[in-house]
Amino acid sequence: MSTEATTANSEETKDGFDSIPQEILDRLTRVDMPKVKGIDPSEDTIEVAGLTVPIYRCETLVLGSGAAGMRAVVELHRRGIDVLVASTGLFAGTSACSGSDKQTLYSASTDYKGDNFVNYAKSLCSGGAMNFSTAYVEAVGSNDAVGGLQFMGLPLPHDDQGAVLRYQTDHDEAGRATSCGPRTSKLMVKVLFDEALTLGARILPSCSGIQIVKEEIDGVEYVRGVIAIHRPEKRNEYGIVFIHCEDLVIATGGPGELYRDSVYPHHCHGGLGIALEAGVALTNVTESQFGIGTPRTTFPWNLSGTYVQVMPRVYSVDEDGNEINFLARYYRNTRESVSNTFRKGYQWPYHSTRMLDYGSSLFDLAVYQEQKAGRKVYLDFLRNPEPINEDEEFSLDDLDPDVRAYLENNDALFDLPIDRLRRMNPLAIELYRMHGTDLCKEPLEFAMNNQHMNGGILIDDWGKTSLSGCYSIGEAAGSHGVTRPGGAALNSGQVFGKRVAVAIKRSKLEKKELPEAANVVSSLAQCIETAKSFMGNGEAKTINEIRSEIQERMSEHAGIVCTQENVAMALEDAKSLRKEIEEKGVQINSASLVGSGFRWRHMTLVSEAVLTALSYYIENGGGSRGARAICSPEGTQCPDGNGEDLSAFRFIEEQAKDRDEKLVVKPSSDGFAIETMKVDLSPDVSREFFEKGWGPYLIKEG
Ligand SMILES: Cc1cc2nc3c(=O)[nH]c(=O)nc-3n(C[C@H](O)[C@H](O)[C@H](O)COP(=O)(O)OP(=O)(O)OC[C@H]3O[C@@H](n4cnc5c(N)ncnc54)[C@H](O)[C@@H]3O)c2cc1C
Repeated sequence: MSTEATTANSEETKDGFDSIPQEILDRLTRVDMPKVKGIDPSEDTIEVAGLTVPIYRCETLVLGSGAAGMRAVVELHRRGIDVLVASTGLFAGTSACSGSDKQTLYSASTDYKGDNFVNYAKSLCSGGAMNFSTAYVEAVGSNDAVGGLQFMGLPLPHDDQGAVLRYQTDHDEAGRATSCGPRTSKLMVKVLFDEALTLGARILPSCSGIQIVKEEIDGVEYVRGVIAIHRPEKRNEYGIVFIHCEDLVIATGGPGELYRDSVYPHHCHGGLGIALEAGVALTNVTESQFGIGTPRTTFPWNLSGTYVQVMPRVYSVDEDGNEINFLARYYRNTRESVSNTFRKGYQWPYHSTRMLDYGSSLFDLAVYQEQKAGRKVYLDFLRNPEPINEDEEFSLDDLDPDVRAYLENNDALFDLPIDRLRRMNPLAIELYRMHGTDLCKEPLEFAMNNQHMNGGILIDDWGKTSLSGCYSIGEAAGSHGVTRPGGAALNSGQVFGKRVAVAIKRSKLEKKELPEAANVVSSLAQCIETAKSFMGNGEAKTINEIRSEIQERMSEHAGIVCTQENVAMALEDAKSLRKEIEEKGVQINSASLVGSGFRWRHMTLVSEAVLTALSYYIENGGGSRGARAICSPEGTQCPDGNGEDLSAFRFIEEQAKDRDEKLVVKPSSDGFAIETMKVDLSPDVSREFFEKGWGPYLIKEG
């Protein structure tokens, strides 16, 4: 029930909506990407195993053209480095294709009294498994990250004094979030591409790195180049090319294809498999984010922020078409249920402890259970939430104070969720309309999905990996700890995009001249032999079989609910699959699928690496943290439901000691080995005296 005093009517809301001209909404949602012309085919070729293989050369090769990779390209180019970017899909990947109601960029606040970088850094690493120093460089670097993007034309909203507008996001005490709307990261890719093209950056579109070629010189292993599949290449049937480089930046995004239930766009394999094959260490791969979104079988999109803050009706539908008010089995009254729906807006990632005390992750568990039971789950913006108990209608006058204040402050006390959404974020409606769902007319199906991997390739604070000359940035890199504020992923990619450019430029001053790479031909020969062996290989599993097996296993046993037994069993199965593929290879029936063959071979490594780390963590007493509840009858915490028996979700608590270390995964003779690395949390920052620091800076820059 609504009251006249506190609510406005639909007509007024429509005025609000109409007052933003359609062309402005279009600019922020229908983002036109620049036309990109790839470089001319190289005339430099070699003959290997009967095939002509084109050779490309550059100083630095950036693999991947998401927001992180393109920032590195721009920063390297500006520093006079001969950089080449090779990318599977120029405008594929999460930056170009993903978002949410207000896709978030997290950076130091510049409004009012400004920010405090030490507090910022502390909040970044507060979830554990992250060095303070890494958090600090991300905090300090965020000003430059944002300033650079604004200079390139990113339309971040600001007030008339120039302060960027801010709001509060997940794990964010200070309100450091900002946004350009649903498509922040796509707009970032656009302005970075515009800049890269203006600078004349060299680009190889439709080109996937499939193997890092490294060489040991004087006891140190160096990157010598990358074998890639360049789809337009016709001089050999597989499109195999070799790219010589002195430095390599892996900016290939996250391993979105690991899970069946996923909100990543299609074809996000990432580069963790290439890294593992080259012996490069990974870290924190146990840490991911899961939450509600529309699945990628439809339009994969995150459902945080205003999508839930407007408190739509949430229901499921069983196979007979019955609509079920399933939240009534979890929350005790209407106010509790709607307040927790609202809180998914800024407590978006699932977190085990938030299942307790009827908190916001009980909502996630409820959705997860409906999915498990085979029921479809929907958000309906045309109706208010149903009551949990009789005579307990939804009312804007009976909300938790924070919920009520939020709606009031945004002048959004309207009768219906759709009108509240129109007032607060018309772009959120526009976006789904563009992709075939009109929220003003129909409900929206959603699910619990995997969205982000916090871990990845182990890097230092300059983005350097465990292999000399190899750097990693963006989601491919394991720069985050157990938790991260929403928007910190995009910031990290920008900060490290610049830091690797600085590091590569500086390394030129002291780099020793390496002899011409000696093992390119042998590596290519081996790769070509593998490619040939995939073709019509009836002995081996097909790509579809491998994909289904991996994705099913990861979603069933390594999602938000894990048990020691299930993870151990999943690990054994993942090991068997990897061994089978090592022995028998992969089956493809067309030369054009060779790239997929390599990618899915890589995914067998990635899934085994993740399960090895997770299994090690649980076996060593690791409890529920980040995205996963580690469930066991011996657990000390158990969520309560309003009638629903949730004893199966009794979970083990996080051990404080686990926050103090990172788990590092390295390839070993039989799969993967785990090492622990102590986290350094000592804030070691002090003000450098200008004259004392200036000289050393000038020398380092050369
Ligand atoms: C639905 C959704 C919502 C999100 N919302 C937010 C948010 O609000 N804030 C936030 O900070 N983060 C968010 N994230 C996470 C964030 O979008 C990603 O972490 C970030 O965009 C990754 O950028 P990237 O440049 O590292 O990788 P990507 O943008 O994924 O780019 C990777 C690139 O590498 C290419 N590539 C892959 N493999 C290879 C190869 N072998 N060789 C050559 N090229 C290759 C791909 O084609 C692609 O061009 C969200 C993610 C999703 C899925």
